[in-house]
Amino acid sequence: MSNLEEFRAETRAWLEENCPESMRTPMPENEQVWGGRNPSYPNPDSKVWLERMIEKRWIAPTWPTEYGGGGLSPEENKILLQELKRIKARPALASFGIWMLGPALLEFASEEQKKKFIPQITNAEIRWCQGYSEPGSGSDLAGLQTRAEDKGDHYLVNGQKVWTSYADQADWIFCLVRTDTSVKHEGISFLLIDMHSEGVEARPIKLISGKSPFCETFLTDVKVPKENLVGELNKGWTIAKRLLEHEREMISNMNMGVGEASMGGMEQLAKDIYGELNGMIADPHLRDTVATHKMDEEAFGLTLRRAGEMAKAGKSVGAAASMFKYYGSEMNKRRFEILLELMGTRALAIEGEGYDEDELGISSQWLRSKGNSIEGGTTEVQLNVIAKRVLDLPEGGQA
Ligand SMILES: Cc1cc2nc3c(=O)[nH]c(=O)nc-3n(C[C@H](O)[C@H](O)[C@H](O)COP(=O)(O)OP(=O)(O)OC[C@H]3O[C@@H](n4cnc5c(N)ncnc54)[C@H](O)[C@@H]3O)c2cc1C
Repeated sequence: MSNLEEFRAETRAWLEENCPESMRTPMPENEQVWGGRNPSYPNPDSKVWLERMIEKRWIAPTWPTEYGGGGLSPEENKILLQELKRIKARPALASFGIWMLGPALLEFASEEQKKKFIPQITNAEIRWCQGYSEPGSGSDLAGLQTRAEDKGDHYLVNGQKVWTSYADQADWIFCLVRTDTSVKHEGISFLLIDMHSEGVEARPIKLISGKSPFCETFLTDVKVPKENLVGELNKGWTIAKRLLEHEREMISNMNMGVGEASMGGMEQLAKDIYGELNGMIADPHLRDTVATHKMDEEAFGLTLRRAGEMAKAGKSVGAAASMFKYYGSEMNKRRFEILLELMGTRALAIEGEGYDEDELGISSQWLRSKGNSIEGGTTEVQLNVIAKRVLDLPEGGQA
């Protein structure tokens, strides 16, 4: 038996023994586990699953072991992912630390910072939020105004962030701050701030749906130790951009995940509602719609896999993450449009008796999918990036 075959056999045996049965079912949105100082576990099995995965160091399987990662090779990681998928295991942890901050810290942080912050991510001890957008700077992110003034042994931070997802539940925030007002991109630094510091206030923004996933985050005379600056002073824009690439990859991968899980459901749903003809969806228009969507998803999945393989071979995805973010967002929106078309008025229920689990929440997920075109940089901004940095097209107005 080769080493990899042995690894697969061990992995399969470990997962069979350690992944609780209920963690092998589709995850309802409200059962996601985010860890942090005040973790909540709506399903007790999710605590067991998280603790076992932490102990096994498989929360971040490929990160270096000295920072709490699993130290797996790309080949081993691929096997682990295949084995997790085989048993339909839920992700043990949802975490901006894993998806966005950790990879940036691995690349840009000092050794002390890596030793301090990365194990807190892999052990699910700290829940992070992202302090990028401000009331006057979203797409024009480099126009941000939150100031960090040098006060000798600390920075004094003043300003306001907005659309900070889950800031009211986060323990720390990774924040872009202005440390030089005389220049734009070169005057930005990347700062880590404890949300429990005096002067930090997260105010939830209530949405029409009744939910409050976003906050306004106010920073008033917040003292931040200088050791919390990542990278060099005024060089934060490079880190910010790299982190955005990780965020965009995360959004496209997530939409892909939903796709794979929902495709069988979509096809079956169409058969249940419109009948079957020779094992196919009876209605030719819907058959065509569902088949086209399925082919798009498969092609997109293969493209993501190819990009993943290239990344493993040391060729960073770079600005191409904007293509994946754009396409993944459009595909996810289309998926929910199709589901609404299939389900008609039954898709309107958000809560209430007489509806299947699958039906409830489709319309709110459809609404949420619209946000994919905005979060992590809008569709228009992605198209600009693709034009300039992938296709190398000239700026508007030039010949
Ligand atoms: C679900 C969700 C979660 C989010 N979570 C976070 C978070 O955790 N942390 C955080 O910091 N932010 C977060 N955001 C904010 C998000 O990053 C911003 O909303 C986004 O970058 C757009 O900025 P804006 O809202 O200020 O819109 P604006 O920048 O004001 O854009 C308004 C419109 O103008 C268009 N536009 C702007 N500039 C150009 C241009 N140069 N060319 C063409 N069109 C242009 C845009 O595409 C858009 O349609 C989140 C947003 C959403 C929807």
